Amino acid sequence: MLILECPYCGVKADETELHPGGEAHLTRFGPGSSDDAFESYLFMRANPKGVHFERWRHAHGCGKWFHAARCTVTLEVFGTYSAQTTEPPSDIIEKIAARRPGWAKESQA
Ligand SMILES: [Zn+2]
Repeated sequence: MLILECPYCGVKADETELHPGGEAHLTRFGPGSSDDAFESYLFMRANPKGVHFERWRHAHGCGKWFHAARCTVTLEVFGTYSAQTTEPPSDIIEKIAARRPGWAKESQA
């Protein structure tokens, strides 16, 4: 069972109280962008076997969106953080690097 701590209200909730929102930290493209960039934004997603950054909503709690870093294989959660960021906080990156030697965030793209 996946248990995530909401960074806003501090509640540790299992996945039945949360709503998944897909990949985090997408670069959004809209009017004026190239067709390829817009298509990539709409349809292309990372599907890693390992560390992944995701969006979640505390649907049956405070209702806010947040980001989570977790392993898709073991369900190990490295941390959750505000959705108002463009990239993961450095403390979470350091935690992942300590537990997954050889992992690099750039390998997610
Ligand atoms: Zn919450």
